[in-house]
Formats: sequence, structure tokens, C-alpha cells
Amino acid sequence: MEKENKEDYTLIHISHLHPLHLTDIPPAVAAAPTCHACRLRCSGSIFECAPCRFALHPPCARLPKMLPHPSHPAHPLSLLLAPAYTDGGIGGGFFACDACRRGGVAFAFHCSHCSFDLHPACAALPESVHHPSHPHPVALTYEYPFPAGTHLVCDLCRNSCDPMQWFYVCIECQFGGHVGCFVPTSPAKEFYQQTGPVQKDAAAAAAEADQAAVLLRQQQQQLMNAISTANMMSANANNFLKSAMMGGTMPGSTVLRDMSETNLEINFNKPGSEHTRREREKFYAQRRTYLN
Ligand SMILES: [Zn+2]
Ligand SMILES: [Zn+2]
Ligand SMILES: [Zn+2]
Ligand SMILES: [Zn+2]
Ligand SMILES: [Zn+2]
Ligand SMILES: [Zn+2]
Repeated sequence: MEKENKEDYTLIHISHLHPLHLTDIPPAVAAAPTCHACRLRCSGSIFECAPCRFALHPPCARLPKMLPHPSHPAHPLSLLLAPAYTDGGIGGGFFACDACRRGGVAFAFHCSHCSFDLHPACAALPESVHHPSHPHPVALTYEYPFPAGTHLVCDLCRNSCDPMQWFYVCIECQFGGHVGCFVPTSPAKEFYQQTGPVQKDAAAAAAEADQAAVLLRQQQQQLMNAISTANMMSANANNFLKSAMMGGTMPGSTVLRDMSETNLEINFNKPGSEHTRREREKFYAQRRTYLN
């Protein structure tokens, strides 16, 4: 209402040269873009540069530069816009997430002292969740709390848990299981899907990450091309790129937004009403006038 705020609708983000606009993706769109930060499919409201098919989930666009995380109390984690483990070329590397043990090729929360890495979605998992099938909350657990060699069988899906992955557990009752089974809405659910006993195969993870790395390289090549032709912006752009590669600051991103869809709805999905749509169109129109 009165609080309609222009900042809600457009965003300059360190990872892209052009302004991003808040856009609604209707559910079940076949060609929905992939979020540049987390590589997961977009739905609902996203920040988008349509000509470049560049998109960010709103929470991914607002990740903090530094993040203290209970899974790694020794050091705060820094946000990197590309994996730390490149082999010379830009974006050549991938990281293995210390939460889900799956590969990542995009944004990461990283500790350079310990080579500790988290997917932003894994970093945003709630520390405890309540599941209707159990009277106590289950806590997110970073270290396997049971004797080595014992199997924790997920109490929801009855498949065994990978002791290397994080999971949710009520220690007193020894009740718990997969993150993907317990967490209600996090995008990280996709990383913890269970089809049986999990044997993480490093080669398979690397191959999976490789494919995504090719995509990332292509996008970053486009970014480089855009930079070299954008004479007007060249000084700025180079600074942008430099700090992007070093995990630099991101304008407008001071607060870690919970990555749950609930939060996405609260903060960003208020659209839908005719009024909001009109307001947004008005804002875009004003913006165009301003730019011309
Ligand atoms: Zn994302
Ligand atoms: Zn663009
Ligand atoms: Zn992860
Ligand atoms: Zn560390
Ligand atoms: Zn399960
Ligand atoms: Zn319990």
C-alpha cells in the first residue's frame, strides 16, 4: 500500500551487468529460467534480466557477504560468486558441499582456511523443524552422532541415511532422518532426495558438476564479452568483475533471508493483486522515462 517501495522491483546485483527486475513466473512454465546463484529452477517471483535470461531467486539475490554458521563455528563463511577451486580459468572449478556432499558450481559460502563450503540453500536450512509425526522438534545435525558403522534409518521414508550428510534428529528418541524428508519447503530438499542407501560417488558428483560448469563458463564468457564491449561502463565493470570473482560486496544485500518458500511468499509474493501489478507497471514506465 503506502509502503510500495521501488527497491522491491528492481535490483542491481554484483553478479550481472544489467538491472534485474522483479518478475512473476507462472507455475509450470516449461522454460522457467534457472537461478544463477543456486542453479535451481525458478518459480514464483524472481529477479530477472530477460534479454540475458539471467535470473536470481529473491533470497539468493540477498545473500550476505559474510555468514557465521553454526556448522562451522571456527570461522565466518564468505560468499563466493563462483567456486574457490578454479584451475586457472574463470569458473573452471566446482565445490563439494559439506552439508549435502553434492557438487556445486555457482554461489558458495566458503571458508578459505578450512576449504569448507556450503550451498547457500544448505546454509539456510532451519536449525530445527517440527514434524507432525513426532512430538519433539528435530534438530539439524552436522556430525554423525551415532557410533561409526551404525545405520540411521530415516523414520519417514525408511531408507538409510548417509552419515556424511547433515540430517534432522531428535537425539532423546533417536528419531530422525533425511533433510529432504523433514524440511518442509527449502530448495535444498532437492539435494537430499532419497532413493535408497546413499553411496556418494565422487566421480559421479564431479561429472554432474562438470556439466553445470560448462554452462557457467558459457555464461561467464558472455559476461566477459558484455564487459569488453561496454565502453561506457568499462571501469566500473572491471571492478565489478574483480570483486565478483573475489566474492565481493553485493549492493543491497545485508540480511540473510531465509530461503524457505514461505519467506519468499511473505517478502516477495505479495503481487498477484491488480493493484500491485499496476504499481509495478507504473514503476517500470517511470524507470524507462528516467533511463531515456
Ligand atoms: Zn537461487
Ligand atoms: Zn542482462
Ligand atoms: Zn549442499
Ligand atoms: Zn574454517
Ligand atoms: Zn527419508
Ligand atoms: Zn523425540
